[in-house]
Amino acid sequence: MAVPEEEAVSKLPAGRIFQLPTDLDHLWDGLDDIGLGLRWLSEVKKADMHLELGGPKWDYKMFSVFYIEEDPEKVPDGQVKLIGPDIPEVKPGTSLPGGFTIRIYGKELTQAHQGYVSRQIGTALQGLEGFMLFGSPDSLWIRINKDVADRLTFAKISQFCYATAKTLVPQVDAVSFFWVIGDPEVGGVEMVNPVFEWASEKFKVISAKELYDDEDVDMFYGCTICKSLAPNHACVLTPSALPYCGIIGYDSAKVTAEMDPEGYVFPIPKGECLDPEAGHYTGVDEAIWEKCNHLVNRVHIYSSIKYPTTNCGCFEAASFYIPDVDGIGLAMRRYTKMTPLGIKFSTLAGTISGGAQNHGFKGLSIAGMSSPNFLRGDGGWNRVVWMPSDLKEEIADVIPEELYDKLVTDEETVDAAELKQLLIERGHPITEVFWKNGEPQPLQIPLPGEDWPEE
Ligand code: SF4
Repeated sequence: MAVPEEEAVSKLPAGRIFQLPTDLDHLWDGLDDIGLGLRWLSEVKKADMHLELGGPKWDYKMFSVFYIEEDPEKVPDGQVKLIGPDIPEVKPGTSLPGGFTIRIYGKELTQAHQGYVSRQIGTALQGLEGFMLFGSPDSLWIRINKDVADRLTFAKISQFCYATAKTLVPQVDAVSFFWVIGDPEVGGVEMVNPVFEWASEKFKVISAKELYDDEDVDMFYGCTICKSLAPNHACVLTPSALPYCGIIGYDSAKVTAEMDPEGYVFPIPKGECLDPEAGHYTGVDEAIWEKCNHLVNRVHIYSSIKYPTTNCGCFEAASFYIPDVDGIGLAMRRYTKMTPLGIKFSTLAGTISGGAQNHGFKGLSIAGMSSPNFLRGDGGWNRVVWMPSDLKEEIADVIPEELYDKLVTDEETVDAAELKQLLIERGHPITEVFWKNGEPQPLQIPLPGEDWPEE
């Protein structure tokens, strides 16, 4: 059930308020001592870390919510509210859960602009000196380097976001910020939990409205913003294929391409549909070939097994082929235990990030699992055999009812041989539809970037 914002924040401590300069001539005042730009994109090693927010230690409990507010009264311009300690106030090496929200108001802004404005701000955040930002909005992993710990504050980070939004998007009239940092002295993870639950509902609202049919449109869109992290990567955005970063959908991609035709979001004329089950279009192949540095010449939008889209590393979940049962497993970034592949999600995610086409693996958003085209080219839900129990609960309403009890979870087994036995005992449809004579028929998955043998 949705958690009202008032309820989520009602028990929080009062916190501190900072006011940013709102005069356009002074937006960047006081920021000269922090670098900003591509050259500052950084990974912060544990030994260099002053403060970590989210990440594996906290099951990635660090979120961000960017949203367009329709009531200007709810967006005090340039206001930053901070609950919990500021960056210079924590001991070096501190790791905490937390979250932040950015509310944006503009007379000319609609909900369709949300993705465009938030990507402008997100890009600035990724280029902050000494600031590492990985993950998706509901499972961020942030680290701040010791080198900037005495120069960087949450108000300054907010000011970078504010100045970027006001400079690059003239339609933005007001922005306000809210940071909650779960230090034990102010309430720890118990304090963050209700705000996290409220934010989780917000993600669903932002994402679900984007879902309609790919056949309704002639144009898809592509996004290359993550090329800074994965030079050969490009995402394909269709009405039913939400990108896994979770903050730009089909509608906002369309707006972004219109507002910034030379920018990182580009139109993809669909061209001829060569395979409707797999989501194979000539226009997508041509666009991806050009945008992925002539390294990927074929993409199946609805497949995790054959010719999947490339992954940069921002995915909140992923699908993975399990040869022992010829099926597909799902897991999300917050899942820190073992998968039936014998590796943890963090290892799997590291292996498939970077922009290569990894047959058998696909980065996903959790909202995108409700798409009617989800893994359609691989057999859809009939091919899914395993997932963490948390995920199964979270997406219970999108799993076909007749399949729900047949899906195996981490609480039952993470062992591939036991998984096979459970699928047989439960009569999972994979045993009939894909196996032969009661035995799985494992596919020989080509190496990343290689083609499948001609059929
Ligand atoms: S994950 Fe894809 S859609 Fe999202 S910002 Fe990166 S390239 Fe763009």
